[in-house]
Amino acid sequence: MASTSLPGVIAALEAGGTKFNCALLDTELNIIAQAAFPTTTPEQTLALVNHFFQQTLAAQQLELIAMGIASFGPVDLIPSSATYGYITNTPKPNWSNIDICGYFSRELNVPIAFETDVNGAAWGEKISGAARDLSDYIYVTIGTGIGAGIVVNNKLLRGLGHPEIGHMLMPRDLSVDAYSGCCPFHGDCLEGLASGKSIESRWGVSGKHLKNDHPAWDIEAQYLAVMCANLTQIIAPQKIILGGGVMDQPHLLPMIHRYFLERLNGYAPAAVLANTVDYIVQTPLQGMAGIVGIAALALSKVK
Ligand code: ZN
Repeated sequence: MASTSLPGVIAALEAGGTKFNCALLDTELNIIAQAAFPTTTPEQTLALVNHFFQQTLAAQQLELIAMGIASFGPVDLIPSSATYGYITNTPKPNWSNIDICGYFSRELNVPIAFETDVNGAAWGEKISGAARDLSDYIYVTIGTGIGAGIVVNNKLLRGLGHPEIGHMLMPRDLSVDAYSGCCPFHGDCLEGLASGKSIESRWGVSGKHLKNDHPAWDIEAQYLAVMCANLTQIIAPQKIILGGGVMDQPHLLPMIHRYFLERLNGYAPAAVLANTVDYIVQTPLQGMAGIVGIAALALSKVK
């Protein structure tokens, strides 16, 4: 890291299964430059990202002070592990055991904050979204898969790994939903029953093309309500924030509220029962939550 009087900036990378979003941000977290590259092979995609950062830094005469990487997973987040900073055993072809953190550490030579993609987005909620004044909250993305970032006492929760709430096991009524689930590990876990992929697999068409009164949404709302009830009882968050493509259906959230209250049957903190519409909310952020969140985490490494 050079010691110059050039303006200090943060490099943020949101590494997704279909594209890599990159941005340079100033220390107030304003985006200065951004780009996106398709996720092809690690060699190709990482080189394009690196080239974007290097070229923009040089062209705009900026000094890089830290980097944040929020990656699709599974990833190794344990600093003492030999494979810390790796994408580990992902089913995505070519991307297993890729040392993404090490690559950028060598190329850019700055401190790196490394998180799951959904942890980056969860932290973005604290910086500029629905969790600005909260110490304990959960952000869940319901898209092709289901994942969550859980913040407890102002820290992202992790133990041996990162939470994988998409694989929580679900109670269900086979007379209502006989679909066997799409998770290759469990079949009928939450992701197997309620992800965008499961909707498409169950009904033969993407959720985007299902009408509001299609029975798919009733089933979907019930599973997501059970998820929210389980998270409420285990974590006792101040708020649950829902995002991801499946939540782009405006009629879904009120159904989740209704089934959630039914499931709790009155057993929850009074604030949860009295004000469910402010307790389970849709993310107000579009698109850049992960970039801003991971940039903020990177900045905290050098501030
Ligand atoms: Zn599963």
